[in-house]
Amino acid sequence: MHEVSIIQSMLDIAFNQAESQGANQIHQLNLRVGAISGVVPEALQFAFDSCTEGTIASEAKLEIEWVKAICYCPQCHAEFTPHDWVYVCPRCERLTHEIRQGRELQLVSLEVS
Ligand SMILES: [Zn+2]
Repeated sequence: MHEVSIIQSMLDIAFNQAESQGANQIHQLNLRVGAISGVVPEALQFAFDSCTEGTIASEAKLEIEWVKAICYCPQCHAEFTPHDWVYVCPRCERLTHEIRQGRELQLVSLEVS
């Protein structure tokens, strides 16, 4: 599952950070996830729960900030929110490849002690 490897790599970073700060518990992980990052929220939470079991993050909360998708049409300089997976400009109906935001998938911060 895609989400497991994402969580695994984020936890690797989190464990390293906690260790370098001399912390022995992770309380919260703050993630920023784009609407078109291809990640399923439930799967992300499920992966998080199973990957943190028996670790210093077993009690940690997964906080996700969702970023909505925004595309840009170079033809008429319009920014718009795409629907589904088709990025068609609502004004000129051209397809665009320019995505301004919505693909984020990052660990923003974490709370440890
Ligand atoms: Zn357009």
